[in-house]
Amino acid sequence: MGAPLDRSATWPYEDGEPGRFSYVRADHPTGAACEEALGALDGGHALLYPSGMGAVTTVVLTMLRPGGTIALAEGAYYGHRVLFDHLAPWGANVVEFDQTGPPPANADLIFLEAPANPLLTMPDLEAAATHPAPVICDATVATPLRLRPLEHGTDVVVHSATKILAGHDDVLAGVTVTRDPELRDRLHLTRRLAGIVASADTAWLVHRGLETLETRLARQEATASVLAERLAAHPAVTTVRYPGFSFLIAFDVADGEAAARVERAIRVIENATSLGGVRSKLEARHRWEGDRIPTGLIRLSVGLEEQETLWADVEQALAQV
Ligand code: PLP
Repeated sequence: MGAPLDRSATWPYEDGEPGRFSYVRADHPTGAACEEALGALDGGHALLYPSGMGAVTTVVLTMLRPGGTIALAEGAYYGHRVLFDHLAPWGANVVEFDQTGPPPANADLIFLEAPANPLLTMPDLEAAATHPAPVICDATVATPLRLRPLEHGTDVVVHSATKILAGHDDVLAGVTVTRDPELRDRLHLTRRLAGIVASADTAWLVHRGLETLETRLARQEATASVLAERLAAHPAVTTVRYPGFSFLIAFDVADGEAAARVERAIRVIENATSLGGVRSKLEARHRWEGDRIPTGLIRLSVGLEEQETLWADVEQALAQV
């Protein structure tokens, strides 16, 4: 088993001086053990946060100057756009761009997503790396087992560890990983001063999830690739987006009405939000994202259930369309 769970908020000084751990807002042993494992996976220096959005907020507060422009991948997690718009009073501007090509020249911070949730495009990491602005890549869906963006010139990798890293829909957590130890220290300072700190319980659950990540991902991915193929051949499905790896599929049925019928008809797959967990989930995304995506777009996160059980559930639901 991994590191022990230490819920202490303070640790005694050693010889009258603070030791490696003194107050929990700076660092704690359960978090440090988890960060060690996360850093090894992505090939850099990892920090843990109480949510994926906590990680993104820390990056923006640390790396964007007032008046700066964030170039955000089109079709990326809609919460990123909502957060950046919310930070407008602090001087954050946002422009969206097609991440399969180069970022706009006026970008001060480039925010990519590999693959974008839910449109599942992949970024051109090399094109972004030639831009003078720092590059952030949210690799929540790719996972470090399928893509290590730091090896392609990315400055900061972000993960919502709530998803497949922890994997069981029982914890909210986020991660940054950087190549540069000095940048890690700047992010750590923001995290410590602002108190955007994951608890020991959170760290322990994420760390435990990492122990089965490879096995879960392999099975979820194998099932997802079969389901994506079958969906593409189904007459009620007009478009299938699947990047060829990982666990997430986005497919379109005729319209919002048809998508709602699928949501109500599924029995094994949960009609719920989020992704990457051991139980499959499906939802129509238009209710959250509005007109940035098609009205009939359904996001399917494939879990660990039996492949044929899942397909039978999808098929009977599509028969209602
Ligand atoms: N990044 C992606 C790709 C996501 O899908 C999400 C949440 O759905 C987030 C970041 C935000 O993560 P959290 O919910 O852990 O704050």
